[in-house]
Amino acid sequence: MKIAVIGAGVGGLAAAATAAAQGAEVTLFEKNDTCGGKIHANQHTHQHPNKSGAHAIDAGPTVLTMPWVFRDLFAACGKDWLEYLEPLPITPVARHFWNDGTRLDLQQDHDANVSAIEAFAGAAEASRFVKWIARANRAKVALNGPFIASTKPNPVSLSMRMRSDLRFIKPFSDLMSALAGSLTDPRLLQLFGRYATYCGSSPYAAPATLEMIVAAELEGIFRLPGGMRELTQALTRLNQELGSCIKLSTPVENICSHGRGWRLSYGQQHCDVDAVIVNADPAALSAGCFGAELQQAVSPPGARSLSAMTWTWTAPPADFELSYHNVFFSADYAAEFVALFKHQQVPTAPTVYVCAQDRVADQTLSSGQEERLFALVNAPANGDTVDYQGVIPTCQSNMQTTLSACGWQPHLPNDVQVTTPTIFAQRFPATGGALYGPASHGWQATFRRQGQRTRRRGLYLAGGATHPGPGLPMAAMSGRLAASCALQDIASTSRWRPTVTLGGTWMR
Ligand SMILES: Cc1cc2nc3c(=O)[nH]c(=O)nc-3n(C[C@H](O)[C@H](O)[C@H](O)COP(=O)(O)OP(=O)(O)OC[C@H]3O[C@@H](n4cnc5c(N)ncnc54)[C@H](O)[C@@H]3O)c2cc1C
Repeated sequence: MKIAVIGAGVGGLAAAATAAAQGAEVTLFEKNDTCGGKIHANQHTHQHPNKSGAHAIDAGPTVLTMPWVFRDLFAACGKDWLEYLEPLPITPVARHFWNDGTRLDLQQDHDANVSAIEAFAGAAEASRFVKWIARANRAKVALNGPFIASTKPNPVSLSMRMRSDLRFIKPFSDLMSALAGSLTDPRLLQLFGRYATYCGSSPYAAPATLEMIVAAELEGIFRLPGGMRELTQALTRLNQELGSCIKLSTPVENICSHGRGWRLSYGQQHCDVDAVIVNADPAALSAGCFGAELQQAVSPPGARSLSAMTWTWTAPPADFELSYHNVFFSADYAAEFVALFKHQQVPTAPTVYVCAQDRVADQTLSSGQEERLFALVNAPANGDTVDYQGVIPTCQSNMQTTLSACGWQPHLPNDVQVTTPTIFAQRFPATGGALYGPASHGWQATFRRQGQRTRRRGLYLAGGATHPGPGLPMAAMSGRLAASCALQDIASTSRWRPTVTLGGTWMR
């Protein structure tokens, strides 16, 4: 049984490993010369009189949430994830700064959060937080099984299965309204509303269902000692051990039906398979990146999610109390999303995310050392129509103004590396630089998201632009779901049977 996987992002690697573990003959095609997709590190050279060297700075995902998803993926392939990965908890979960000089750390520990919020916003707000986070947790538990683990939930079946939980999930409210119904401090609304941007969406339009992301993050976030590329390396090694054939620097240019299966063309070569799992954004299929035959295989793409402007640099340790995961808030959050989604512009006063990758509890920064820094500002996904090169200086200056207003004045060296929506658009075809698939706006967005099965038998989708959504764990889940669909469909129409029963624990 032959399966081709196109794209070696997390979703593609998870799909390939799952299928290979079931005995399928898997070929994984990746257009880049490395696996990982959005997991990406920039290389910086450190020049110092006493110490010079190369630094890899994570410029894509910086943290791992829901690590049990990877535990279960490895278990389903008959392996122990801890022989491949060393997830280390990050404390605090995140540090938040505002321009009035206030600051709030969120921890994995619930009681610590209640005390911190009491000191930050008063006892009444802390007790409102207790009620709200209990609801968010309840929504997370309710959604885990019937929504996330299902290949394509629909509103009717979901509401039938979750009738008693609908009041926790609040699918018809937008996130900001639901938060405003529970909390009153505008800084906390901004803080918890920001989680919509993890799906590249606006908190003023995304459904309150996304409250579950807060609950998932407060379960703990993790780093990998050598950076997030260790996740790519672990998944690549898993695939190699299971016998997947990985073809790097091999962009697939065409997919067309061939007998009962599919023919893939790349360069002057082709390959015939029984099923194809595409890890590129589904928008690439609609745009004809794989040929005309598959343009109607998926629904037309919805409005794009956010892109980003990012900066990586090294600098002597900042004389400012950064944590690993930091957020510097703008003064007017609503204006940011009007700029991003209505005017399709980078906000002039943006909220800034900063990952200080060397600020970890078990490491002290010495004065001779340079620390690695990554900053991200949300941007519209119009990198295919707007050339961002000319606006980099203005965006950088606006980004630094937000940091300064919150008390930190970093100096960005000349060798700072900047990634724009234009660059993301080139890396991820047909997306305009959108990093999270379609925006999750409106209560139906969840159900409109492309599922693993397409309109064509034997053609499947995996990755953060498909159900259940973006982020490393969700993309990995979608890869497992895509492989399961392919294996089930093939088994139902042939004498081939998977060699091992789908194993592991599917959900916690
Ligand atoms: C800046 C940034 C920060 C992020 N931070 C976090 C974070 O901290 N935590 C988190 O969980 N998530 C984070 N995310 C989201 C997370 O990185 C993504 O959701 C996830 O990596 C997407 O994986 P994917 O399976 O969709 O594949 P992608 O990473 O999108 O990879 C798709 C692959 O397909 C390949 N491909 C496309 N077309 C072809 C073709 N024709 N032939 C061959 N190959 C092809 C591409 O080259 C690419 O390698 C972040 C993303 C970005 C960009």
